[in-house]
Amino acid sequence: MRKGRIDYRMQRRAVLRDVFDGLHAVQDVRDAHPDLVRAGTHIGAAAREDCPLCDQPQLRHVTYVFRERGARTQGGRAVPRESLPAQLDRYGDLSVYTVEVCLECHWHHLVESYLLLARDTAAG
Ligand SMILES: [Zn+2]
Repeated sequence: MRKGRIDYRMQRRAVLRDVFDGLHAVQDVRDAHPDLVRAGTHIGAAAREDCPLCDQPQLRHVTYVFRERGARTQGGRAVPRESLPAQLDRYGDLSVYTVEVCLECHWHHLVESYLLLARDTAAG
């Protein structure tokens, strides 16, 4: 089950507004790490919207998982979104982060984060 979802749309909008208002240099928000761009190319899911910066249909969503081990969170890696059920079976509770990246201009921003739990611990 999914729990504790955080949506980062407001922060994203604020960053974009600052860019369009000239408060952020556009090159400062087009600095996606090469690994993120690579993950977007190979395992990213096409986003429903075009890139907010360059208007190209090259926006991808990349899913990162981190293993939850008690209070500790271990090693994140990019995985195909459709593999999440298998990741959960194999590793147990996960923190999941969805990051959008534009393959054209390298804009990137966090979209959402949530916990993916093997069982509903809240229900006891
Ligand atoms: Zn772009």
